[in-house]
Amino acid sequence: MAKMFINGQWVDAQSGEIYEVKNPANGKVVDSVPSADKEDVEKAINAAQAAFPAWADTAPDERAALLRKGIQAVEAHAQEIAALLTAEQGKPLFEASGELHHFLHGMEFYAGLASKIRGAQVPLPPALGKHTYGLVLKRPVGVCVGIVPWNFPLTLMGTKVGPALIAGNPIIIKPARTTPLATLKIIGFLNKAGLPPGVLQCVTGAGGTVGETLICHPAVRRVALTGSSETGRRVMQLAGPDFKRITLELGGSDPTIVCPDANIKRAVSGVVVGRYWNAGQQCLAVKRLYLFEEIYDEFMEGLVEKVGNYRVGDGGTKPDKPFIRMGPLHTATQREEIEGQLADAVSKGAKVLIGGKRPDDPALADGYFFEPAVVADVPEDSQLATEEVFGPALPVWKVKTLDEAIQKANNSAWGLGSSIWTQNMSWANRAAREIQAGVTWVNQIHYGYDELPFGGVKASGVGHEHGPEAVDYYLENKGVVFGGLDWE
Ligand code: NAD
Repeated sequence: MAKMFINGQWVDAQSGEIYEVKNPANGKVVDSVPSADKEDVEKAINAAQAAFPAWADTAPDERAALLRKGIQAVEAHAQEIAALLTAEQGKPLFEASGELHHFLHGMEFYAGLASKIRGAQVPLPPALGKHTYGLVLKRPVGVCVGIVPWNFPLTLMGTKVGPALIAGNPIIIKPARTTPLATLKIIGFLNKAGLPPGVLQCVTGAGGTVGETLICHPAVRRVALTGSSETGRRVMQLAGPDFKRITLELGGSDPTIVCPDANIKRAVSGVVVGRYWNAGQQCLAVKRLYLFEEIYDEFMEGLVEKVGNYRVGDGGTKPDKPFIRMGPLHTATQREEIEGQLADAVSKGAKVLIGGKRPDDPALADGYFFEPAVVADVPEDSQLATEEVFGPALPVWKVKTLDEAIQKANNSAWGLGSSIWTQNMSWANRAAREIQAGVTWVNQIHYGYDELPFGGVKASGVGHEHGPEAVDYYLENKGVVFGGLDWE
């Protein structure tokens, strides 16, 4: 049985409660973990509070060196961790290993920034004394909490742990209930590298109990959530009364526009990876596709062919078996949700061009498998158009002009990512300026680079992760004034 990591120790829940983590590909139990309650959370927060002053005073180079030692230890166990991620999450091994390497790259990026945090020196007006000047000090915010979803449990933990630690804060991670195992392994290796007790902890359990207790505790000053827009609203309500610092990385319904002059082959590949990676369970997935009518037929032919070649199966299958391109959906609920959205669209007149059902193979009957779908003639009022589609189904529309494409792209409650495929620079510039989204990719797959800030507008959230900008959310700007010594 796995344990949680609190105050430098592997521990059970005080209550002794546990729950099972199951493999979405076959329903088998992978392991069990403690189901924490308020007392466990309290212990973690006390340990973090106790660790804070010394960690804030630790030299930046030393913080970076500890992080790097931990990164090496994780890297040395990459295969074991990736296999665990596949077993608990469902994504194929090559995707799990890709996620782990993305996590390591991000951690290395932040280790490199530890010694590069800069404040400022500001000359001030002489009215209250000559030679008065100000300093802007960058001070760590205090005890931080990172709440992580199940779709990318490792990278989305890294986007919180990296900046929090290098800025001098302790952080408590709450993984999603269904994906705590690879996370706990990594937390263990990072700690073994020499982090002081209480600096990096992990408490497992339900969002409503563990998550809300963490957010509401007065000692917690900073909450970073990646999750649904609904959870984001709740976190904002809970963090509001005590004015806690928050960032919310929430849902999306990313539009992609393909223009008549686009490189169709590359655009088809980009859209397929963008939509069906991680069985479509990505915040930044291509969720609405707008094709200019001139290239609609050519694009759809390529798209349907590529999606038809996707092999769905148990992502943990060894490489000597046929290559599995897409694993199961993460839970029964996820599969039911996408089935419901598809059925709603079809009942209103949409046409499913390929996929869109459970596979016939009886060997896959115990997993939450679903064949990737392409859907045309989708009514604008159907759930496939108005809700976040968090699974492998892509609704496609025809457009006549860039104005129409941008207007439709913006007709959404969300504003996370977006993309345009064109060789026309002025069209690309218009898309970059006018699409209401945190990111616009031009002729590029939807991908969250560690080097670039990532975040959403509208219902997609508040604040940013990734990039040097993310570190600022873990620091307070403190103004200091040094008066001139010429009062007499
Ligand atoms: P979720 O909101 O259900 O859960 C996310 C995390 O919040 C989990 O750890 C969960 O236990 C916790 N949680 C749930 N209720 C809580 C509460 N009341 N208080 C505190 N914590 C609580 O989301 P999910 O289903 O795990 O993830 C999918 C969603 O996340 C999608 O909407 C997706 O678009 C979004 N997402 C966004 C980004 C981004 O960067 N913007 C990245 C990945 C996923």
